[in-house]
Amino acid sequence: MSALGAYPDEDERERELEQLSARAGGVLVTIGHSVGGRPIRAVRVPSTTRDAPRVLVNANIHGPEHIGSRVAMAVLRGLAEERADELRRAAEVVVLPCVNVDGFARTVARAGRGTLKELRCNDHGVDLNRNFPLPTVGDAGSLWGLVGSRELSIAGSRDPARATWRGPHPLSEPEAKALHDFAIVERFSAAVSLHSYMGTFIPPCVRSVDEARAYARLVTRARCAQRRRYLRFQWGFFDMFTGELEDFLHHETGTWAVTLECFTLWQTLRQHLRAPTLFARFNPADPRSVVANDAPAVIAFLLAALELPHPRRGATEAIDPAP
Ligand SMILES: [Zn+2]
Repeated sequence: MSALGAYPDEDERERELEQLSARAGGVLVTIGHSVGGRPIRAVRVPSTTRDAPRVLVNANIHGPEHIGSRVAMAVLRGLAEERADELRRAAEVVVLPCVNVDGFARTVARAGRGTLKELRCNDHGVDLNRNFPLPTVGDAGSLWGLVGSRELSIAGSRDPARATWRGPHPLSEPEAKALHDFAIVERFSAAVSLHSYMGTFIPPCVRSVDEARAYARLVTRARCAQRRRYLRFQWGFFDMFTGELEDFLHHETGTWAVTLECFTLWQTLRQHLRAPTLFARFNPADPRSVVANDAPAVIAFLLAALELPHPRRGATEAIDPAP
């Protein structure tokens, strides 16, 4: 057992990934390495259908958000134990349970104690989920000017001392670059990024009413798979690009992408009063009920998204040579 109770340390997490990969008939891939030199590994679980589209489940881009990694691993376990056959028929599933491997290891080494800045970022102190390039599609990129001129820290900060520091430039960090390059090649049809905490679904920033409505319907499908239904947090016109993975995936690789913030605000407040560590704020002491609640929602979102045509693809498609 690790310093984090029911949660594995990095060696246990990687062993579990290897075991589940073998049971699922999957292929382990290393998409890149962190600043600290740790491999960032994913499992590619082949579909039982030929030429099936690909989907992505990723987690732990923020160091202390280990519950997301547990939910991702539960999806992989479901595929390995033949409990997610519908998804396996519909798609090749790539499960990437830990993007920020250095932040994960740091959180374990400090037994979950530290400031948000200390545990959330990579080893350069960058918020990896603010380090993706801003979409260049249509008029949407212009809103970045608004963020650039005002300091909205949740949207990413220019101050290296902040927990949401965007880094010196987009894709400055090897972890974000690795995931970016992987996604460009894979062209996932759908993706779920697992975070904590808020008990919400957060679709990307989109500018068309049709796409906003599509996300509302996709999130409804995901919520219906939950016993404890989370909220949908969609900003509409006031949303903006912040260098997040979902915005990049939606606009540049044509992926229906959503952030799922596991663990509700009420649960986290209650737990934090009893055990005031950063880790206790982000992760339930017993992950089982959250995992049981959220893994089916991940699968439901992916299945619903696979029924839709790709959202528009951005600049990366425009420069593709004609076949
Ligand atoms: Zn997060």
